Amino acid sequence: MPENFFKFIILEFPLELVTRFLVFFVPATLIYLTTTKWLKNYFAARKIQKKGFLQSKVKHDIIWSAVNRFILTFVTIGIAWAVAGNYSLIYTDINKFGGIWYLVFSLVLVFLIHDTYFYFFHRMMHTRLLMKHVHRLHHNSTDPTPFTGYAFHPWETVIEFAFLPLIISIIPLHPIVFAIWQFGGILLFSMYAHLGFEIMPKWWVTNPVTKYFNTPTNHNMHHAKFNYNYGLYFNFWDRIFKTHHVDYEKTFLEVLKPIEVAVQTSEER
Ligand SMILES: [Zn+2]
Ligand SMILES: [Zn+2]
Repeated sequence: MPENFFKFIILEFPLELVTRFLVFFVPATLIYLTTTKWLKNYFAARKIQKKGFLQSKVKHDIIWSAVNRFILTFVTIGIAWAVAGNYSLIYTDINKFGGIWYLVFSLVLVFLIHDTYFYFFHRMMHTRLLMKHVHRLHHNSTDPTPFTGYAFHPWETVIEFAFLPLIISIIPLHPIVFAIWQFGGILLFSMYAHLGFEIMPKWWVTNPVTKYFNTPTNHNMHHAKFNYNYGLYFNFWDRIFKTHHVDYEKTFLEVLKPIEVAVQTSEER
């Protein structure tokens, strides 16, 4: 067990900070360069907003994401300290709650609870004062890139990521579940949502199951139109509270139209 919190922070901080930066900026940079440079021709037809990204906005988002990766280092060290000191419900014995079934159940549960927390927290961020003083920073890019994923006002980061200590205090989670949710869910999903390009197939928004799972177009429309599509992983809450943009499906299919045209043209040859 760590002797005290401050000693723990000082010892862990440098490595944790480097890790926080690498796990975000390496994939975000690779994804950005792949979509805008290396495979530019392939992705051009999948661009959600047809104009190019504004470099001043990309720079703005890189700076603010860096600030927030720094702030998040304190949160993740706090979590590591709580886990090491046995102050959380994180458990290591895989058989403790019935083995693999509880792992799967807790993974689904954590995504559903996080999605719910995010929806209502995000609606709150769009109230007049919070929008003006806090959340507008995230909306600086009306056409987001993967770097927008962590470009928040520090207050927003603190409230949004307060969810991490909260969830490990109320639900027993295995480190595997916590890691899948952290990297696959929070980190990679944030890059996917802010991709700026649509990568899902055409049937995604009409299939009775997949239509409830959000796409890059869904969140891109949130950045462009502000008061719709607040959801994170899913759009249940948007549909229930009528904040699901009425043109979402139409916009999604329009974005993918150039690909259909290209396929038809090559078949005609
Ligand atoms: Zn918003
Ligand atoms: Zn966003």
